[in-house]
Amino acid sequence: MRRGCISLGEIMCDVCQRIIPYPERYLVIDEKNGVEVEKGETVRYCTECAIKKGYAHNKEMKGRMVLTFFTEPDISQEQGV
Ligand SMILES: [Zn+2]
Repeated sequence: MRRGCISLGEIMCDVCQRIIPYPERYLVIDEKNGVEVEKGETVRYCTECAIKKGYAHNKEMKGRMVLTFFTEPDISQEQGV
């Protein structure tokens, strides 16, 4: 399961070990052996690591690029209207 969160400044990325400063966003995800699962180990990703891993991507919303941690097909469809 994926949860997008905003760091309060005391969160460390489990991948690159850097402290994620407030108000940067980060991703909390359940993984097992490096693969996303419904329930497993909780791993925190900073935005850079999430992008590298393919968990996050930049998406154009209302004319500007926004980072999203989710696959939201219905939202992108709405944008096309
Ligand atoms: Zn990282």
